[in-house]
Amino acid sequence: MSGGRASAGDTAAPTGERAAPPPKPPEEPAVCGHCGDRFADDRLLALHRGRAHREALTDAEVEAYREARTEERDDVRLFRVKALGLLLLIYFGFIYVYAFVL
Ligand SMILES: [Zn+2]
Repeated sequence: MSGGRASAGDTAAPTGERAAPPPKPPEEPAVCGHCGDRFADDRLLALHRGRAHREALTDAEVEAYREARTEERDDVRLFRVKALGLLLLIYFGFIYVYAFVL
C-alpha cells in the first residue's frame, strides 16, 4: 500500500446505516512498520503492535504497548462503572414507578 491521498469522493460507499466518520481525520495516520496497517492515533497503533507483532517489538514499543493497554483498561473500567450505574438507575426507576402506580 503506497501513500498518496485519494480524493474525498474516492472512498467506498457505505452500505446501510453507519456511524458518521470522525469529524477530523488525522493528518498523518500512524502506520504499522510491520504490516503497513494504518491507525487513527499512536495509542491504537501501540495496541495493534502489542497484539499482532508481539515477538518483533523493541523495548520502547513494548513499553508503549503496556502504557496503551493500561489506558485502555482504565477506559473500559470507567465504561463498566457508568453502564452499571445507568442500569441501576433504570432498574430502581422502574421499581419506583411500579410502586407508585399500584
Ligand atoms: Zn501491524
